[in-house]
Amino acid sequence: MKRIFCTQCGSQQEIMYEKEHGVFDVLDTKIEAELTITRCRQCHEEVWDETIERCNDMILFNKYKERHDLLTSDQVRNIREKYALSQSGFATLMGFGAKTITRYENGSIQDVAHDLLMRMMDKKMNFLSVWKQRKNHLNEKDVKKTELSLSQMID
Ligand SMILES: [Zn+2]
Repeated sequence: MKRIFCTQCGSQQEIMYEKEHGVFDVLDTKIEAELTITRCRQCHEEVWDETIERCNDMILFNKYKERHDLLTSDQVRNIREKYALSQSGFATLMGFGAKTITRYENGSIQDVAHDLLMRMMDKKMNFLSVWKQRKNHLNEKDVKKTELSLSQMID
């Protein structure tokens, strides 16, 4: 059984999980979702569990993305993996900061410009024109893996 520090009790306590259905604010949007909350088994006060909070954010942010017609984390990952690129390689190719794709795949919400660019990269023809322009910014490993995957791809 996982234990977490409860500020109410002032000690490590066993925790319990509860489902909470509600409407939550995500940026400018109200999102309805069922999230998990963590409580101290002893005093029933809510306690902070980083893993659970990350899952809750992932649920809310993906619902936000669906609502606003933005790529979900999985869709971003699928486009990247189609070309066998690393997260930092895919980011560098599009001129994003090195950690940007990692953040999107972990749930962060992308702006519309980034979203459109990633969508365009899904089409091989678009990818190839960016590839020719930018592949010299990537490391050798990324270049080799991606060129292999491009050569095996059916147009
Ligand atoms: Zn407690």
